[in-house]
Amino acid sequence: MEPVPFSPPSITNLEIERVLATLRSGWLTTGPATREFEQKFAEAVQAPAALAVNSCTAALGLALRLHNVGPGDEVITSTLTFTSTVNVIEHTGAKPVLVDVLPDTLNIDPQAVAAAITPQTKAVIAVHYAGLPADLGRLRPLCKRHGLALVEDAAHALPAEFKGCPIGAGDNLAAFSFYATKNLATGEGGMLTGEAALIEQARSLSLHGMSRNAWNRYGAKGQWRYDVVDAGFKCNMGDLQASLGLAQLERLDAMQTRRRQLFTAYDQAFAAHPALETPSRADGDGHALHLYVLRLREPLCSSPGRDAFIEHLRNAGIGVSVHFIPVHLHMYYREKYGYKPDDFPVAYANFERMFSLPLSPAHTDEQIERVIATILAAAETHLRRAA
Ligand SMILES: *Cc1c(COP(=O)(O)O)cnc(C)c1O
Repeated sequence: MEPVPFSPPSITNLEIERVLATLRSGWLTTGPATREFEQKFAEAVQAPAALAVNSCTAALGLALRLHNVGPGDEVITSTLTFTSTVNVIEHTGAKPVLVDVLPDTLNIDPQAVAAAITPQTKAVIAVHYAGLPADLGRLRPLCKRHGLALVEDAAHALPAEFKGCPIGAGDNLAAFSFYATKNLATGEGGMLTGEAALIEQARSLSLHGMSRNAWNRYGAKGQWRYDVVDAGFKCNMGDLQASLGLAQLERLDAMQTRRRQLFTAYDQAFAAHPALETPSRADGDGHALHLYVLRLREPLCSSPGRDAFIEHLRNAGIGVSVHFIPVHLHMYYREKYGYKPDDFPVAYANFERMFSLPLSPAHTDEQIERVIATILAAAETHLRRAA
């Protein structure tokens, strides 16, 4: 049987036609499609303003730059994230200060953030893990009280809501990802949302620090003369990606409906199983349903253990992944900051027993049924062996 891929992209004729139209338009780089994508995205998440860039990593880097994070500063974030959240802190010369996550949601622990604040702390990056918003109700006032910038790593959080308010609609900066596996995919791409003034500054920084509207300098009405007002970066999005993004944005509601069906099918299949733990969910929790993270309970997490369980699934043609290897376990961070696995016991213990299931609008019912049957059969096999 054909393997079930972990996260195939959902691409229809709409995406293909939009990209072809851009190819035929005579304009490939940042232009009308990118501007339209920014406007429609901002409307979709009720953001004050939005800037399209070439990755979420770039958006996070711009956010730290806009908050003047640099050498001598500290930035707090959770260890259970993709390395890019922490790499961007390193790039500024500031010190990343990792904290643990909450055992149920696996989101950043606000109490751990409070305990990690020092006079050097400049910002907090809150990751909305798997698509479930972090506790902004506690993080926002905490950051305000200490004069800290709050940046949201919203790579998983499209579309997500915290207490009825869309992620991206706040005054603070939020960074979204359109990487191939994310809820809205352009292959590579990202979006930074926030207040209009900051977003305009980010726009210049995303294109070498050139003065405004420099992107249009090759157009018919473009000006050849520009000024460079900062030593900026080069991380603007092009119109090919943006036209793909526009088509995906039109289909986002439909894709989310499909995600919800698959999420519910997994919940129903696994919720009552004594050795499997389904993701923490509540009605109206605003979850973007990006990842379905299943956790093994005893005795499965000891025998065969997560790694062998994954191997079993892979041999059966089921593509799974792990989100994430905690950042403090990676060599660079371990060696530079002397971290031990148990420094963040909740993240470490949960990492050791988690894996993420195939979850894409492109999956068929048959594929998801096979994933469910294979996992249940694997659990039974190993439980019988353990007994
Ligand atoms: C995917 C991801 C990123 C990086 O996104 P890119 O668009 O690939 O740069 C950042 N943070 C988290 C939590 C992610 O999952």
